[in-house]
Amino acid sequence: MDLEDINTVAVLGAGNMGHGIAEVAAMAGYDVNMRDINEEFVQDGYEQIEWSLNKLAENDQLSQEEADGALERVTPLVDMSEAVGDADIVIEAVPEKMEIKKDVYGDVEEVAPDDAIFATNTSSLSITDLSEVTERPERFCGMHFFNPPVRMPLVEVISGEHTDDSVLEVVEGLAEDFGKSPVRVHKDEPGFIVNRILVPLMNEASWLVSNDEATIAEVDSTTKFDMGLPMGSFELGDQVGNDVSYHVLEYMHEVLGDAYEPAPLLEEKVENEELGRKTGKGFYDYEDGDGVDIPTDQHSELVKRRLIASMANEIAKLIGNDVAPPESIDEAVMLGAGFPDGPVTVVDEFGLDDALETLEDAAEITGHERYEPAAYLKERAEVGTFYDPVDEDDGDAADFEAIRVEYPGEMVGHIVLDRPHRMNTISEQILDELVEAVDLFEDDDDVRAILITGEGEKAFSAGADVQSMAAGGADPLHGTELSKKGQSTFGTLESSDLPVVAGIDGYCLGGGMELSMCADLRVASERAEFGQPELDLGLIPGWGGTQRLPNIVGEGRAKEIILTADRFDAETMESYGFVNEVHENDELEDRAFELAASLAGGPPIASKYTKRAMLAGRNDTNAGLEYEAAAFGQLMGTDDLMEGITAFMGDGDPDFEGQ
Ligand code: NAD
Repeated sequence: MDLEDINTVAVLGAGNMGHGIAEVAAMAGYDVNMRDINEEFVQDGYEQIEWSLNKLAENDQLSQEEADGALERVTPLVDMSEAVGDADIVIEAVPEKMEIKKDVYGDVEEVAPDDAIFATNTSSLSITDLSEVTERPERFCGMHFFNPPVRMPLVEVISGEHTDDSVLEVVEGLAEDFGKSPVRVHKDEPGFIVNRILVPLMNEASWLVSNDEATIAEVDSTTKFDMGLPMGSFELGDQVGNDVSYHVLEYMHEVLGDAYEPAPLLEEKVENEELGRKTGKGFYDYEDGDGVDIPTDQHSELVKRRLIASMANEIAKLIGNDVAPPESIDEAVMLGAGFPDGPVTVVDEFGLDDALETLEDAAEITGHERYEPAAYLKERAEVGTFYDPVDEDDGDAADFEAIRVEYPGEMVGHIVLDRPHRMNTISEQILDELVEAVDLFEDDDDVRAILITGEGEKAFSAGADVQSMAAGGADPLHGTELSKKGQSTFGTLESSDLPVVAGIDGYCLGGGMELSMCADLRVASERAEFGQPELDLGLIPGWGGTQRLPNIVGEGRAKEIILTADRFDAETMESYGFVNEVHENDELEDRAFELAASLAGGPPIASKYTKRAMLAGRNDTNAGLEYEAAAFGQLMGTDDLMEGITAFMGDGDPDFEGQ
């Protein structure tokens, strides 16, 4: 069966996950049969889909016609044979109990077409065991969505022991069709990738507190504000639900051994029914207390070392057992858990020899099996990293991670901010890579203009990546350094000898807007939205906005934009002189490229001097005028001037050589 053969998707279970998966499939144009055990449950799920689709339409993420069309494609059913009789794929999202799932597969097998694919959304059960309940283990795999499916981009596609590769390919294609990013998990080890990293991390955090080696405040302060993870470990635990983490952990304990023994603190929370947000109390008190209250400055070196070392050990087991390669682990955890950087990257930066030493020390102090280093960790500690070290001489475009560098022709060098799962927000890595990319283009004689855009339709860039920035804590010196780093990085575009065009689609906010200020020309799509929201956070624009924005739109408009912290549409920003051209949404990319190509065809020396003169004159008009005069004189002696004059007198286009 190919992806094209899939038309009808049956979703079993209309609960939390089932209704979300059905909605996603219907939005992608598939006919969906959604089944639950009684009329009330299936109707509940259907109403939730209706509510969610209308919400998406209200927020302009979908037109009302598209929302109505999607709802029409969902058929709520109770009868099993009606639900799966004509299904090309059955996605099962019934409760996480082996007996229930086994019963369900027994019933499904009787009525489903022989060639239908079975995919389970289980979070932790063995795909192989489940597949063996059916008569089609080779057409059975895991398709693990994240909650809520409508919003979460990741789908783990998991192979059981018997799964055919062709089935995995179809299911990955389907996930892509659903608008999701599939990540292949080659073996169905407990927790797959994301939970295998997160749950033991949560457990290690709990052990540190159980053993009085750290407090909850220290652990969360370290995870959130020192390691820069999106949430404190305990904050995340409360969000996921302590019963859910405990349940996954128990399963890991059973299958993988004592290294996964749940920490007493976690056990206690489950026993006391302090399950997290959903029960009003977990590690934090959401009803009578302050809720999540994490100090920014209680970092503990021990906590950081232990958590990173534990993560390194889990990663080593995943890679060493061929469950997934480093790239997949990073992608999955970034998409599924919102880590600003992938865990393999974090651990590699820390150093595997350090991680190994931390584990060995901890094993000696505590004697606990969870610190037993994986064989593959010992092996890689010799190299120092999980990723193979990059050959320094091989520093080409492939080395970029947070951006892409492309050569679309016409002497244009194209930088794409490539973190669509995080709205292309600007991390320190993006700052570093931007400088490298500008250098690369400036050293390349075949590049005469730079185009910069953001991946995806949602955002050019929605601002600074607050999570990765928070890694420095509330330290003012770090803040100042960070501000200077952004100012100077964006400044390399502003002061680049090459003309720079920003093609702005979607959000262009905060640090993203400050980046766009350093382009020479800005073109925007109709749906683009601009703003400097920093004052709403009690901050000021820190990457040049207070200085560069007034230069473009005048002080009055700049103050309006910054002090109100409002959003401005593309048309308004065009009338303010910030945006040079506004284009229809689906034409933006082409128009931005055309503009960059036309600047690339201009005289390189004259455009370089124009930029330099304007920059020099910005703070000191006299210096600028001096610069302008000197540059004007120099241009008199260039071949380009002759070429330009000749072309002007004749009919042809000039062919500037930059001489
Ligand atoms: P849920 O309890 O919200 O929904 C399960 C639904 O299945 C219920 O409506 C129930 O009535 C229905 N059901 C029971 N027996 C059925 C049957 N025989 N046929 C059809 N429907 C039946 O549970 P959930 O949170 O949606 O979880 C479903 C699955 O998804 C589980 O395997 C879970 O591990 C997995 N999962 C959950 C999450 C999450 O965050 N909730 C995330 C990823 C995966």
